[in-house]
Amino acid sequence: MSGTMRSVCVLTSGGDSQGMNAALRGVARASLSAGVKVFAVWDGYKGLVEGVMSELSWLDCSNMVAAGGTKYGTARCAQFRTEEGRRAAVVNLVKANAGALVVIGGDGSLTGASILASEWDDHVQKAVANGELPQDFAAAAELHVVGLVGSIDNDMFGTHFTIGCVSALHRIVEAVDAIRATAASHSRTFVVEVMGRNCGWLALMAGLATQADFVFIPESPPSPCTSTSVPTVSTTTGELLESWAATLVAKLARVEGKRWSVVIVSEGAHDCKMEPITAARIKEVIEAELGHDTRITKLGHVQRGGKPAAFDRYMSTNLGIAAFDALAGYAAAGPPAPEPVYFGCSDASVYPVALHPAVAATRNVHDLVAAGKYDDAMVARGAEYPQLFRMLRTLLRSDPHDRSAHALPDYRVAIMHVGAPAPGMNAAVATLTRIFLDAGVSDVVGIHNGFEGLAKGKTCPLTWAHVREWVPEGGAKLGTTRTLPADLAPAGTPPDKALEWLIPHLSAFNALVIIGGFEAASILVDLADAAPRLWPHLSGMLIPATISNNVPCTQYSIGTDTALNAIVEACDRVKQSAYSSAHRVFVVEVMGARCGFLATMAGLAAGAEKVYTHERGISAAAILADVKDFCARFTASTESNTPRSALVITANAASETYTTPMMCALYEAESDGIFSVRASVLGYLQQGGSPTPLDRIRGIELAAASAARILELRDSTDTAFLVCGTSESAVIFSDMSSLDGSMDRANRRPRCQWWDDLATRNISITSAETEPHPD
Ligand code: ATP
Repeated sequence: MSGTMRSVCVLTSGGDSQGMNAALRGVARASLSAGVKVFAVWDGYKGLVEGVMSELSWLDCSNMVAAGGTKYGTARCAQFRTEEGRRAAVVNLVKANAGALVVIGGDGSLTGASILASEWDDHVQKAVANGELPQDFAAAAELHVVGLVGSIDNDMFGTHFTIGCVSALHRIVEAVDAIRATAASHSRTFVVEVMGRNCGWLALMAGLATQADFVFIPESPPSPCTSTSVPTVSTTTGELLESWAATLVAKLARVEGKRWSVVIVSEGAHDCKMEPITAARIKEVIEAELGHDTRITKLGHVQRGGKPAAFDRYMSTNLGIAAFDALAGYAAAGPPAPEPVYFGCSDASVYPVALHPAVAATRNVHDLVAAGKYDDAMVARGAEYPQLFRMLRTLLRSDPHDRSAHALPDYRVAIMHVGAPAPGMNAAVATLTRIFLDAGVSDVVGIHNGFEGLAKGKTCPLTWAHVREWVPEGGAKLGTTRTLPADLAPAGTPPDKALEWLIPHLSAFNALVIIGGFEAASILVDLADAAPRLWPHLSGMLIPATISNNVPCTQYSIGTDTALNAIVEACDRVKQSAYSSAHRVFVVEVMGARCGFLATMAGLAAGAEKVYTHERGISAAAILADVKDFCARFTASTESNTPRSALVITANAASETYTTPMMCALYEAESDGIFSVRASVLGYLQQGGSPTPLDRIRGIELAAASAARILELRDSTDTAFLVCGTSESAVIFSDMSSLDGSMDRANRRPRCQWWDDLATRNISITSAETEPHPD
């Protein structure tokens, strides 16, 4: 492969976004691993036009995965928009013997790349004719181009996520969470302006994750309110209010018992006449019509800043490697050059997307908005987008719709947790409650502390107001335990009768939703088995929630992302400490037991040299080989006088024999004094904390879909037991036989784990922060 491939150039262009460094590192290390030269072009197309690029070594990409911004700079370059500018770029690429270019940027940058590729031959010939290139370059092979979308707005058609959008969402949600406290203390209303000139993704997701009171996005201006109780004329000036203002005032006025509000507005929000809806005008309206003390917070460039979230690190790394793999494939296949693609991603995989149609479709959304075709614009953003906006509008209502005509008076739903707490559980309970109540369900009942609470009758009615502030809260407000029905059955109960004490407790309900981890999955299988005999009218749903991500039938469980971010943040600190103490290996132990998801993904996101998991196994021989490898690298670093440190991550039950203390002792004993070893056991800090935006949104999405499916089942008079999970960023349902068949009960993990091969391969390609030793 490397024999057929010329050098790779990689640049970042347009607005910076967190994760660009990880993507560039992915491209660079995949190239270097394949023996291909790689150059980073400084400041985007400016560097290409001016010929400013640096050949990258392995160490040039060390310790950059955690850095925000873009190490090699970005710029907007007017010269590159001209033919002369692009010809200068071609000359510089030819001089670098580049056969491939990876552009990490927004739709403008990717369009520029594709124009460059299409004009390549022409520019080479003209440059030769002008004497800018020697004659023998006339036959220079074509340039292959691959794009990666770096943009915090998440505005590109064809990908679920762009590089940086999740980190920007982290910044917004952190800020709004912080604002809530001061807003509540002073009974204030805050108007928070977020980025998104044309795309409301950040505002919409932040609105869901923080349960803001009102959200303005460019693709769907608020429609005029038809309610007669809504003011149309200003109470202070007597003038006609803008229709959006009347809707906003009506919404904020009806929030009873709430002393404060948050309104989130995209910077590109506008009304139906394309008149901007600005934060300043919103404040004016709220103060004049409601008398609320109102403040504006413009988050501005804070949203682009800070460290990348775990997702932006591991997915951008995957994207960078995928870009290199594609380029290597093109080089191996030879001409003709394929149509240019960019690599997009779901939350679990990366895939190529035809560039030109995607750019055209992205721009079409802007045209649809400008033409007032808002429904079409919403759909053009992807099927989930209008669905999420509808969900937002339901969940943020002050009270449920009046369903008296279609109420479900005798329908009772129970919600409980089983297992350890996982951040995002509260978002799921709050969403289930509101969606069921909004559909007219008469009783939504929360059960405290799982089966223990059910046994003791510890239940509470869940009301609309009850769950108002739950989404951002960590932990499990309903309480959770690992206790299973068999643990609570009267002494001497035979195993096949262990569920019978539950008969009266569950007979009171039509549906049971369990939000929990592996224990929850096991018990739902048992309940489903017994239901036709014991509870013929009961439906059941499992919403997977566990930090370990070890529940089958879903790619992600609620809580996993928060734990991963906590681990990655801790690893950043540990690495910094290790880096300051020359020749030290830090061994970080993370949760997950025999499921290596957290260890593996943290290794990918934090840049660990070695990751030990139960799946891959640990042996004394493997540890000794790793120690030998570290000794060789550390010795080489002493000779070259470069500081060395290393991060090793191990899952807490990766091996019964080679526990963390045992592994550290072996490392230290065999290091021959070349390096010292320190251990850090992260423990329960991984279960705590405020849920990340992805966990809140997953909790909301899975819960909303579960509630809708349960209500459908009620209408069909069927009963069923299902798992509601995610696959490629979409919600999927699986039945109990799939769940049962996918569980590796002995190891408490799915039989098949989607992340294992990909993540393990990609760590081995990218993660060594010290230079791989030739041996
Ligand atoms: P963001 O989403 O942050 O705005 P972007 O990549 O869309 O990122 P642009 O300013 O549109 O940002 O483009 C960045 C650079 O890409 C431009 O300064 C220019 O050098 C190049 N570029 C953009 N569009 C074209 C085009 N049509 N032809 C050639 N070059 C272009």
